[in-house]
Amino acid sequence: MPKHDPSSENSDSYDSSSQDSEDRPSLPWYRAGLAFECTGCGNCCSGPQTGFVWVDQEEIESIAQKIGMQDDLDQFERKFVRDVGARRSLVEYSDGDCIFLDPKTRGCSVYEVRPKQCRTWPFWQSNLESPSKWGQAAKSCPGCNKGKLYTLEQIGRIQDHGTSPPTS
Ligand code: SF4
Ligand code: SF4
Repeated sequence: MPKHDPSSENSDSYDSSSQDSEDRPSLPWYRAGLAFECTGCGNCCSGPQTGFVWVDQEEIESIAQKIGMQDDLDQFERKFVRDVGARRSLVEYSDGDCIFLDPKTRGCSVYEVRPKQCRTWPFWQSNLESPSKWGQAAKSCPGCNKGKLYTLEQIGRIQDHGTSPPTS
């Protein structure tokens, strides 16, 4: 499940740091770019598999502010955040859906301040390792290989800054 990063607490599925080495001798397989356009299906925010939506303190505070709980961060964290080893993840409903996935609209109720993990999907390093990994991502994300073509440079910027929307 894309949003639900199933990796261990030490994983870096959506971290781009390993991609930008100046020593890199050749361009990656997706040098011509990749097409992506979110359909808003909500798959990347939902169960049934459990996983993780990693959040850091800044992201926690932004979401808390968005829902008017900025003055009670302790309560916010008790309600919406869980510890996973040394890291923190958003809580899920029992069916595996992210706690911030609106059950009616299947959209993200904190879209403007969604965590970087969500903003960078599907351009996670783990999905870009090979065409087959990208193909695997596309199986659960109908937006992959559709619509707007993102250049290599744009993909790098999204990985670094999370400026690409999944619109869910
Ligand atoms: S990013 Fe993909 S899986 Fe997520 S809502 Fe958009 S199309 Fe669906
Ligand atoms: S925070 Fe929003 S975009 Fe991220 S997994 Fe939850 S519902 Fe989806």
